[in-house]
Amino acid sequence: MDLKDLYRDVILDHNRQPRNFGALTGADAQADGHNPLCGDRLTVWVQLDGDRVTDIRFEGKGCAISTASASLMTEAVKGKDKAAIQALYEQVHALLTQHNAEADASLGKLAALGGVSEFPSRVKCATLCWHTLNAALERSAAAVTTE
Ligand code: ZN
Repeated sequence: MDLKDLYRDVILDHNRQPRNFGALTGADAQADGHNPLCGDRLTVWVQLDGDRVTDIRFEGKGCAISTASASLMTEAVKGKDKAAIQALYEQVHALLTQHNAEADASLGKLAALGGVSEFPSRVKCATLCWHTLNAALERSAAAVTTE
């Protein structure tokens, strides 16, 4: 099995059985995301301990790439703080937008999204969950400063 088959299987698996799927009750913040180009819709919930995401769940309806990307993201960011999540997003974004970008080993299963760089119109499907997570984290920060 070559790497492309392996990556495709990861995407199909996470689309069929998305991890951390369903509303998170008692979440500290949530945000909705919409990608009008494809029609993908997502809601992301986060539970925070200071700057660290201790739990994250999502729900939504969209294409295989948007669902698999969100599922992979929830697994990858759980337990990380905001700075680490931002750094990870920058790596994912480079992987999605730079043709033939080498996936860093630290990306783990997120490397499966590398194939998306061959389909520029689908990049927004894969980044929707990250933008939505970012909105939720910004909202939580705003909530803290107004207390
Ligand atoms: Zn899509």
